[in-house]
Amino acid sequence: MGELRKMTYINQHVLNNLFYILVSIFFFYFLYDYVRFFQRKKVYQRLLFVVCLSVPLILCMKYPIYIAPDCVHDLRQVPFLIGTFYGGWTVSFPLLLILLLARWAMYGYQFITVAVYVMMFVFGSLFSPIFQRLSRKQRLFASAVMTFILAIVATILAIVISDFQVTESYVIHFILVPPFAVSFVVLIVETLREALLIRSKAIKLEKMEVVSQLAASISHEIRNPLTVVKGFMQLMGGKDISEEKKEQYMNIALEELDRACAIIDDYLTFAKPFPEKMEPLDVHHELTKVIDMLRPLANMSGVDIVSTLMPAKVSGNAQYFRQCFLNIIKNGIEAIEGDGAVYVVVYVAQKTVTIVVRDEGVGMTKEQLARYGEPYFSTKQKGTGLGAMVSIRIIEMMDGTWTIESEKGRGTTMKVTFPLLLKK
Ligand code: ADP
Ligand code: MG
Repeated sequence: MGELRKMTYINQHVLNNLFYILVSIFFFYFLYDYVRFFQRKKVYQRLLFVVCLSVPLILCMKYPIYIAPDCVHDLRQVPFLIGTFYGGWTVSFPLLLILLLARWAMYGYQFITVAVYVMMFVFGSLFSPIFQRLSRKQRLFASAVMTFILAIVATILAIVISDFQVTESYVIHFILVPPFAVSFVVLIVETLREALLIRSKAIKLEKMEVVSQLAASISHEIRNPLTVVKGFMQLMGGKDISEEKKEQYMNIALEELDRACAIIDDYLTFAKPFPEKMEPLDVHHELTKVIDMLRPLANMSGVDIVSTLMPAKVSGNAQYFRQCFLNIIKNGIEAIEGDGAVYVVVYVAQKTVTIVVRDEGVGMTKEQLARYGEPYFSTKQKGTGLGAMVSIRIIEMMDGTWTIESEKGRGTTMKVTFPLLLKK
């Protein structure tokens, strides 16, 4: 008989309570993952967390495990403590208010409840920063221990301030089950968090991969002209070869070397080993470098580079970023026949940075515009048709967007927008 009664301590009501809690945790991560809005600001996340935890909090109270004359047994402290440990007092305080108001509305006011949960709020919030610094495994253990300690302190508090009856059911449902439940929920939270983290890292890596593959295909592209050069050098080494032929071979070889150089310029000007790291970079600083580098080319072609820059930080890789704008601004310079100017302007908005490169050059026809960024599309005698493609890949890797407008004979405007990291 004793066996049977013990078995029923983990009954339908306990499982229901657990069910409310687990579903809402999944719901939180589901919304967080799918709704962009919640990823934007910490405040929105906190708000979502509070809402998602207050639902099981209320449901647990509404459908409790057991109602005794002076207390209601349920697992409400599980969502409350999860919110407190992970969110600190800013999440805990609204949960505390919701808990007390709901309890008051459903079962009437009781001073013990207020005392117990205010105590849990204070100690839980103090524990929260420590909890967040722990490793994943330590969190499992620490959350269970802390929940247990809080339950014991709560019990002592209840006994001291009133003649509280410690029943068997109370011991099980208030002191023994919650530590396991909290620890279990922590396990789930950590697992979901890690899964989301790994996935977002995988997406980043994949984008990097595309740019790395570019490197492979471009090095192949460089090998071609070098092979041609090698062939003509061997021919020139032949015994009976006329001066005239020699000169001809020499010119072809030099042209091919020029082409190899141009390809390298379009992709590898700033290349360093292991550049595949995202870091905060200053748009003003990087663009200044690029413009300084292009100034000699511009002067030679009688082109002015007029820049209006603003400090702003975006996330990306400095070398790739410079390569990207080197190619775009260089195309602007090359588009100008005779005198003219290339304008580089930076706009900083609430959440974005826009970089506009405008030239007063030859412009493009509709057909040319449609092919912009296509590999090996070039209208230039010695063009590679790689520069625009490389730039676009880099912009996409950095989560940027771009638009291009062009009119034959009037000029071209390229607009590139990146998410803003910091204003200054
Ligand atoms: P390349 O500069 O070696 O030709 P790109 O990939 O940099 O290769 O550019 C591809 C083509 O796009 C150019 O040949 C040109 O026809 C066109 N283009 C790019 N930028 C401009 C621009 N600012 N004005 C006019 N045409 C442009
Ligand atoms: Mg180019």
